[in-house]
Amino acid sequence: MIDGHTRTCGLIGNPVEHTMSPLIHNTLAGLLSHNLVYVPFHVEEGKVQQAVEGAYALNVLGVNVTVPYKSQVMESLVEMDELAQKIGAVNTLVRCNGGFKGYNTDMPGLYRALVSEGIELEDQEVILLGAGGAARAVAFLCAVHQVKKVYMLNRSADKAKLVAEEVNSKSGRECIYPMALEDYQALPDQKFLAIQATSVGLYPNIEDVIIQDRSFYEKIHTGYDLIYKPRDTSFMKLVRQSGGKAYHGLKMLLYQGIIAYELWNEVSVPEKMAMQVYERLEREIYNEK
Ligand code: NAP
Repeated sequence: MIDGHTRTCGLIGNPVEHTMSPLIHNTLAGLLSHNLVYVPFHVEEGKVQQAVEGAYALNVLGVNVTVPYKSQVMESLVEMDELAQKIGAVNTLVRCNGGFKGYNTDMPGLYRALVSEGIELEDQEVILLGAGGAARAVAFLCAVHQVKKVYMLNRSADKAKLVAEEVNSKSGRECIYPMALEDYQALPDQKFLAIQATSVGLYPNIEDVIIQDRSFYEKIHTGYDLIYKPRDTSFMKLVRQSGGKAYHGLKMLLYQGIIAYELWNEVSVPEKMAMQVYERLEREIYNEK
């Protein structure tokens, strides 16, 4: 029940209307008997600073940040977590003295998701498809977790080159190799973990796939698609048809939320509870009522 002690958390972005975050956080609050409510805040362009200051003035406990403000919001923070600073994107604000501190929980969220599926990064050779905001975070994750080599393939080869240079320089490891997407046939003849971090194939364009050529999928032992809607993307289907294992990105969404919730409330969410939230997400997203 909402009363005089209820704490507020929320999401700022534009748009925010399709977010699953209220389901994650309000379910956690219910399961943990926390007097906390999580709401979406649609913030217009140019109003991010005001939104952050307003949230602090209103004693808001924590804020998530989504598209298009993950970089822009950094100007409005009083402190930055080192990892978020390196990634250059913030998706979680934690209340601190005089304002908010910025974190990135997308990257550790993906790591927890990979671990929970039994996928290891250490010493792997990885194909990373994309060079946008999500791919950039994945590239950092790979660099931090001692991936041997990451072939970053992107439609705009220039962008892949810039991101690779930045990640290599900030991580102090020369492990990201940029490539043009169309040059995929030049990849070494071996098996890879492939992480699909482009927006190609996202609902409702579910027939689209980043690379059509079936021979490409023979090089993949495990495919992880950051997209979680549809449940089986065309990329995942092609990986499976070539004998590989394939996963969607719903656990990444789950764990980025759980890590934010843990930061705000200084708790550790047990795995069994995480799975209860996951089941609710699945029911909601895939209409398994
Ligand atoms: P973004 O910054 O807009 O980047 C989009 C990427 O997709 C770029 O690499 C872009 O290539 C590529 N792309 C788009 N259309 C393409 C096309 N027709 N052909 C080839 N490449 C194309 O987006 P983002 O924030 O990185 O997000 C990427 C995906 O990850 C989205 O689908 C998002 O839903 C998903 N995601 C999932 C989670 C999760 O929790 N599971 C979290 C974050 C993101 P160019 O550079 O050439 O334009």
